[in-house]
Amino acid sequence: MLTNSLLNKGTAFTEAERDALGLRGLLPPRIFPIKEQVQRALNNFRRKPDPLEKYIFLTTLQARNATLFYRLLQEHAEEMIPIIYTPTVGQACLEYGAIFRRPQGLFISARDRGHMEEILRHWPNIDVRMIVVTDGERILGLGDLGALGMGIPVGKLALYTACAGLHPYYTLPICLDVGTDNEKLHADPFYIGINQKRLRGEAYDSFIEEFVTAVQKVFPHAMLQWEDFGNTNAFRMLHKYQERLPSFNDDIQGTAAVALSGLIASLRVTGGNLKSQKILFLGAGEAGTGIGDLYVAAAMEAGLSEAEARRCCWYVDSQGLVVKDRPGKLAHHKAPFAHDHPMVPTLAEAVEKLRPTALIGVSGSTHAFTREIIESMTRINPRPIIFALSNPTSKAECTAEQAYTWSDGKAVFASGSPFPPVVYKGKTHVPGQGNNVYIFPGVGLGALVSEAAQVTNSMFLKAAQRLARLVTEDDLAQGRIYPSLSQIREVSIQIATAVAAEAHATGLARVARPEDIEADVRSRVFEPEYYDYV
Ligand code: NAD
Repeated sequence: MLTNSLLNKGTAFTEAERDALGLRGLLPPRIFPIKEQVQRALNNFRRKPDPLEKYIFLTTLQARNATLFYRLLQEHAEEMIPIIYTPTVGQACLEYGAIFRRPQGLFISARDRGHMEEILRHWPNIDVRMIVVTDGERILGLGDLGALGMGIPVGKLALYTACAGLHPYYTLPICLDVGTDNEKLHADPFYIGINQKRLRGEAYDSFIEEFVTAVQKVFPHAMLQWEDFGNTNAFRMLHKYQERLPSFNDDIQGTAAVALSGLIASLRVTGGNLKSQKILFLGAGEAGTGIGDLYVAAAMEAGLSEAEARRCCWYVDSQGLVVKDRPGKLAHHKAPFAHDHPMVPTLAEAVEKLRPTALIGVSGSTHAFTREIIESMTRINPRPIIFALSNPTSKAECTAEQAYTWSDGKAVFASGSPFPPVVYKGKTHVPGQGNNVYIFPGVGLGALVSEAAQVTNSMFLKAAQRLARLVTEDDLAQGRIYPSLSQIREVSIQIATAVAAEAHATGLARVARPEDIEADVRSRVFEPEYYDYV
C-alpha cells in the first residue's frame, strides 16, 4: 500500500485503515488530510532553488503518491505546468540521464525487435487507453535526444490526468529507442539509450509496424499519440496509421488547433475575419504546415474555396520564401502552400512584400523576429498579430517584451513558452501562451469517452473553435488570447464535449450517444481523491 503510488495515501491513512492494512507503526502517528498534505508538498516545491529541482521533486512525488501529485498539479496548474512540461521539461530531457532515478513508462529499443508484444504485456496495467509515444528525434525545439526523450511522453500523460482528468491507470508513456544521430549522446558515459545510429528507411518502418500491430493486439482500446518525431517520419506515420487506429500527432494537429484558436480570438481584437487574413509563417515544418492545413479547413468552412484559403498562408523556411518554382524538390507537406511568386530570400523582405496581417514563428530560430520586422508589421497593421511559438523559451522568435515594446504596445502576442506580463507605457500586457495543453487533453478525453475509431482534423477544428469561445472579454482586455491556465479543467471538459459530439455526428463513435454528452464527460473525469479502504 505504501509503495504502490496509485494506492498510497501516506500520512492520510486513517486509524481504521492503519489497523486493517497492517500499517500501524510504519507511519508517524499524526493523520494529515489531503488538504494539509497538498500544502506541505507545495511548501517543499517552492523551497526548491530552481526549476529542474522542482521537476525532480514532482517526479519523485508522482512515483510515491500519485493522488497527491495530481491534486497538487490540479490545484496549482499555472505554477506546475511550466515545470512538468515546457519549458522545464526540455532541460529535464537534456539531463534525463543525469537525473535518472527510477524508470517511468516503457522503453522499446531496436534490440527488442520480434519481442514488442511481450514487452507491452510487461506493463502492469492491462486496460491501457492512452499511449503517448516518441522516438526522441525532435524533442521540443531541441533536436535529437534519443532515449532522453522519455521525459516528454511522461510529462504529456501527467498533463492528460491533471488537465482533463484521465485516470492515470489508463495511461502509458513509451519511448522507442531506435538509436540517435546525436554524436554528443554517443560520447556521454551516462547516456541511457542504445549507442547506435538511428534506424532509417525500411528498418525504421518495419520497427514501427511491429509496434503498432503489438499495441492493437495487447491494448485494443488504446489511442496513440505520436509525439516529437522528426518531420520526415511524423507526417508519414500520421498518414499511414490515422485510419487504422485512433491516433494523432500533437505537434502537427494539436499545435494547429491551439494556434488557430489564438488566431480566431485575436480577430476579436483586430476586427478582421478568417477569410481576409494573410498569415506569414517562419518555419514550414510540422507545426507550421499543420497550422496552415487547419486554417484552410476553417477558412473553407467560412466560405473560401480551398485554393483561396491556401493563398492566405505563406511560408518562409531556412531557404527563404516557399514558392512554386524554387530550385530543388519541395517537401510533400510544403507543396500545397508553394504559391506563384518571385523568390524572396529573407523574412524581413517577405514581410514588406506580402504585407501579412499575422506573423507566426514556428522555426526554432531564436530572435528571428527582429525589431525591424516587428516595426514593419506595426506599420502595415494597426494591430499586428505576432505569435512566437518556438519552444523552449530560449528558442522563441522574440520575447513578449520585444513584441510589445517594438510594436508600441499594439501587438496581439502569443508565445509557445510562458513569458511574464509586460508593463509598457503604464499598461500591463499579459501574453497568451499558445500551449498545446489547452487542446490535446480535451481531444484525448473526448475521443476516449466516445471511443472514436479515428481522431480526425474536424475534431481538432471543433476543439479550436470551442477554445476560442472560452476566451472572455476580460481576457482580451488584458491582452491574453487564451483563457487562464487556472481554468484548464473546465476548458478540457468543454473541448472533450465538442470532440465527443463530433465523433457522434460523424459516425466515428463506437458507443451509443449519451443524451447529455457534457454530463457524460463530467461523470468520467478522475478526481484525485483518496479511496476509503475500510
Ligand atoms: P520542424 O523541424 O518540423 O520544422 C522547423 C521548420 O523551421 C522547418 O521548415 C525549417 O526549415 C524551418 N527553419 C529552421 N530554422 C530556420 C531559420 N533560421 N529560418 C527560417 N526557417 C527555419 O519543427 P516543428 O515541429 O514545426 O517545430 C518548430 C518549432 O515550433 C519548435 O521550436 C517547437 O518547439 C515549436 N512548437 C511550438 C508549439 C506551441 O507553442 N504550441 C507546438 C509545436 C511546436
